[in-house]
Parts: sequence; structure tokens; C-alpha cells
Amino acid sequence: MQFSDNITEVKGIGEKTAALFKKLGITTVSELIMTYPRRYLTYDSVVPLAECEEGERVSVMAIIVSYVEVKKFKSISLTTLTARDESGSMRVVFYNSPFLKNVFHKGQSFVFVGSVKKKNGMRTMEMPEYYTESDYERMTSVMQPVYPLTAGLSNKIFQKAVRSVAPLIMETEDYLPSFVKEEFSLKDRAKSLYDMHFPENQDELKESVKRIAFDEFYAFLYEVKLLRDINSREVNTHRISSEVRYKLNEFITMLPFKLTNGQSQAVNDIYNDLSSGQVMNRLIQGDVGSGKTIVGAAALYMMVISGYQGALMVPTEVLANQHYEDLSGLFKSYNIRVELLTGHTPAKEKRHIYDRLKNKEIDIIIGTHALIQDKVEFANLGLVITDEQHRFGVRQREKLEEKGERPHVLIMSATPIPRTLAIIMYADLDISVIKDMPEGRKPIKNCVVGTSYRKTAMGFISSQIKDGHQAYIICPMVEENEALDVENVTEYKERLISAFPENIRIEMLHGKMKDDEKTDILMRFRNREIDILVSTTVVEVGINNPNATVMMIENAERFGLAQLHQLRGRVGRGDAQSYCIFINSKKTEESMERLRVLEESNDGFFIASSDLKLRGPGDFFGVRQSGEMEFEIADIYNHADMLKLAQEAVLKYSDTVKPAKLSKGFGTL
Ligand code: ADP
Ligand code: MG
Repeated sequence: MQFSDNITEVKGIGEKTAALFKKLGITTVSELIMTYPRRYLTYDSVVPLAECEEGERVSVMAIIVSYVEVKKFKSISLTTLTARDESGSMRVVFYNSPFLKNVFHKGQSFVFVGSVKKKNGMRTMEMPEYYTESDYERMTSVMQPVYPLTAGLSNKIFQKAVRSVAPLIMETEDYLPSFVKEEFSLKDRAKSLYDMHFPENQDELKESVKRIAFDEFYAFLYEVKLLRDINSREVNTHRISSEVRYKLNEFITMLPFKLTNGQSQAVNDIYNDLSSGQVMNRLIQGDVGSGKTIVGAAALYMMVISGYQGALMVPTEVLANQHYEDLSGLFKSYNIRVELLTGHTPAKEKRHIYDRLKNKEIDIIIGTHALIQDKVEFANLGLVITDEQHRFGVRQREKLEEKGERPHVLIMSATPIPRTLAIIMYADLDISVIKDMPEGRKPIKNCVVGTSYRKTAMGFISSQIKDGHQAYIICPMVEENEALDVENVTEYKERLISAFPENIRIEMLHGKMKDDEKTDILMRFRNREIDILVSTTVVEVGINNPNATVMMIENAERFGLAQLHQLRGRVGRGDAQSYCIFINSKKTEESMERLRVLEESNDGFFIASSDLKLRGPGDFFGVRQSGEMEFEIADIYNHADMLKLAQEAVLKYSDTVKPAKLSKGFGTL
């Protein structure tokens, strides 16, 4: 077997299973190997039933004291039994698993692993894992990897697949020469990859994570260095004309608001870049709501009045629509022609847009990634802006070159990175930081509360709506999930509709909806045709509705702090006082403690640095990151030391040491 083989070559994986793996982005053996466990389960010693905390994952050894009953309700079958230990008894429930009647028998003893809940006054465990006593004993000594899964693909299947390629993992070549590994005290690559999947103990795992993080950073920074070398040689072939200075001042004076110092400085930096001898490669870094869009608009304006075209690229169709609305409004009085191009633009219209772009009948085009990838031709593309998105790698730059002379590049990002790390990660870019918020903004008022506060919160939301404002309610899930006791938008919306009077307009939004449906809902929300938007985290990126003043986040304990901060950035975007209510459904003090950071501060940098100290229970590696830097394992905060080492290694050895091919996590670099 080879790394490049299709995973159907792996023993036990047929076409059907392969299709499931594909859903996770895994088609080859090396992709399988580089899909690391999300976390590791350790099986603790068993606890007496009477001592089980509600909602905590526990292991219980109990004897089955009842007959196993199978009942059918419509399409669902329920298998139930009663089990007890010396301290008490519980009901055990399985859904759609009638075959278990042949597994469990009265009088047998099993270890059940799951969370105990009170249901109808009875201690109940739903869908627990179950093991014989001897199997369980064997497991308590090993860390069990838990892989990212999809419906139909169980952790067992995943584990087995990885197990059968284990010998191959050990054959992985190490791109780092021994002396470099020694210099930086790094573990062997093959052994690290192996230990990611089959860790002997915490220490081995820790060293492996460090090594993999180093590799990801090295590959990233290697590319960054290439980019920097290229950038420093590129000549500005799209200089702005001399009249830009005073026209720009006029443009700024005509805006409905006064630019903040940070915005003015950023616009100035861009002006200087565009009139210099070198191509612009600039990053605008500013917290959510700091007003990056208008800075981008000013850059587009400078280009267009100098006779060039500009493109604005965003990660989602919804955001493209929003920017299109805002910018076409802004540029109307200047006779600047703005168009929108997305995956949903009808074919005929697309062709028409292509023609007009080529003939220079469009000045600014707004759209998703397809903008630079498709067969789009420009008459004279001078500037590409990306919002909340990946920077351009070498390959994309080549694509851009094909469209004519290399245009200027501006990247707008809300990722809060401390300056010391930003200098490393963005070594190929010049950076403008917007530190201040627009005048008149009132800091968001935050509260972290338990579920008992929900009723009061609803009353508060009602009163905000009466005042003409709008609200977001965020739930983690799209639909009900039997295994998880977590809020979902589908049911939540129904509940709200029956709880609120009819004149309150409630809609939902989630990632499984079609793009045009999503866009439609968001546009209606922005036009104040919807009062409460019940949504998953799809609203997290870039959405702007300054009239929305409340956000309530259900199951806040399930999200990372940085993500919660991004979410809450959807309110507090206008003059009115805004509020964010974090509902904490977990009763532990730790969970409360972690969320309180959000009460303390509205500053993204502060939140991000607290986030590493206070990871949520789910995010073992704290994988959630912004689009620009998607690493599988590496985390710039947690592994800042590895980032610095990798930086040192790149500076010293990049001439001779080429990075490993990382099939995952670098799709867009
Ligand atoms: P972000 O940096 O998160 O992309 P936006 O560019 O979407 O922020 O701006 C958020 C809101 O603030 C928009 O409604 C925008 O019109 C408004 N805004 C931007 N700059 C200013 C300013 N200097 N004064 C007042 N409002 C502003
Ligand atoms: Mg934005």
C-alpha cells in the first residue's frame, strides 16, 4: 500500500464506506492518516450509581435485573432494561437497536458508559456504550482516539481503517534531517504520526502534537517566505492618478460618518501603497464592527477613478449579497458600476457579466472565490480585496497573473492575533491595525446566565422589539439530536412562534438551507421584515444589521470564547445600546468561570488570549480558527513556542529543507 492510494485499497473499506469518508474530505490513505483524532477518551474506573452527577459522562458497572423489552413507536424502536449496582438502579434505553435483545440477558453484568439523566423521576442512561467487565478493564489502560465522524461512519470503523494502515504510518519519511530535529528537540515524524492515532500516554501524545504543529507551521511559513520573496520584487503597474488625493478627501467627506483614526490611517497606508513603486500586499486587521468595509471601499474608489477595475471576494454568498447591497448604494452617485457574481447567478447573466468585465463596462465585481478561479477575464484588474478570508498563496497569485498584470491585494481580517505572532504569520504582508471603534458606539452589555433566566430574557427581547429593534437567537444545532441535549433552531423557532404574539415575525437560518434561501432570509432581516432570527453559527461571519440589538446564545458552554466573541459582534453595530445574553446550560463552576471572560471584556485580543487558558471541554486542541490559517493541529496561541521555532527553522534552513506534503489543512494556501 502507498500513501497516494485511494482508501478503497484499505482492508475493509468498500465503495460505500469510501463514500462516507469522502464526506469528511478523505479520499486517499495519506488523508486518512492526517485526519487526527478530535480528542481521546480515557475510560475511568467505575462509579457507584448513587454518586453519578447528572449530565456527566460516567462508567457504571451494573447487573441486568429485568427482562429486555423491545417496543415499537411508528418508525422508532425502543429497547429498555433495568440494571442495578449496590447503590441503586437505572433504566437503560437504546433507540433502533432491537438486536440488543440478543446481547443483554437478565443476570448479566455490564459496564455502561454514558451520562445519567433523570427521566420521569427515574435515573436513565440513553444509548450508552457497553462493555463486558474484562473488555472494559483492558480499555482503562489505553487512550481511545475519537475521530471526526459523519452519519453512518462509526468511530469503530474509523479506528479499524487507521489500524490497518499503521505499518505504513511508520514508514513515513522525515523531511527534517536528524541534526535539525536535534537542534529543535523534535520527535521523529513517523513516530509522531503514529502516536497521534495510538498514543501510549499523555507525554508521548504531547510531544507528537508539538511535532505535527511544527510541521504545519513550517509548511505554512515556508510558503509565506516564498511569497515575501516574490512580493519584494513585484512592480506596481496600477498606479493611482494624481487627482486621487483630493477626490479621496471628497469621498471621505461625503460619507455619512466620520472615519475613526484607525480607519483614516489604514486608508492613508493604502493610498501610499497604491502610489508607490511596488505592488500592494496589505492586511487590514480590525475587531468585528471596527468598520473595515469602508476602508476596502475607499481602496476600490481610488482604483476605479484611476481607470482600473476592482474585485471584492468573500467566503459566503450571503456576505457577497450584503456587500453588494451596501457598495452599490455607496457608489451609485459616483456612477461607479458594481456587479454581483456568485454560484447562483444564472448562466445567461453570468455570460453577460463576463462580457462586460472584459469590455470594462463593470468597475467593481463582488462575489465568492469563483471570481478569480472561473474563466473570468478582466479588462484591467487593479485590485483584489478579500474579506474574512484566506490570503492568496503562490498558486492563486499565478491565477491572478493570468488575468493580466499582477493586481494589488488587500486582505481584511478580524482575527485577533497579538502583534508578536502577527509579524510571523503575516511576514509577507504589510499590516494596518484598526484599534478604535466608530464614535457613538456603546460597548455591548453582556450577561452570562443559567437556563432559568430564559423567561426574563424573552421578556427583554420583546421589549427591544417593541422599541423597533431586532434580535438574534443562536442555537448550536439545526435539528433535534437524540444523543445530545442541546438546543436546535428548528424546534426553537416553533416554540418561539407559539410563545410570542402573532405580530412578531420569527424566522430561522442554518447551513443546511439553500444559498438563495439563506440570502433571502438575511436580506429580509436587514430590511426589518423579521424580528427574531433563530440561527446557527452561520451568522458568525461578517453579517451586518445595525438595527439588531440583542443576541441570545443558547448552550453557550459549547462554543469557544473567540467564536462567541465573533458571534456577539453581530450586535452593537449601530448607535443603540446592544446586549448579549449567554445562556450557560452546564451547571459547573468552570463553565461559568470560562464564560465570564465575555462579561468582563468586549476586546477580541483579550478574549483570544484568555481562550487558550480556558478551552471549552470539547476543543481539545482548540481547533476552531479563522479561515486564513486552517491548521489541523497547530494553534497559534497554544503552540506559540512551536511557531517561533518553525520561524527560526525556516529562516535558517528553507534553502535546503523543503516541507512535508501536508494533504490536509492547506487547501487554499
Ligand atoms: P467590520 O469591521 O466588522 O467588517 P463593518 O465594515 O461591517 O465592520 O462596519 C460595521 C458598521 O459600522 C456598518 O454599519 C458601517 O456602516 C458602520 N461604520 C463603519 N465605520 C464607521 C464610522 N467611522 N462611524 C460610524 N459608523 C461606522
Ligand atoms: Mg466585515
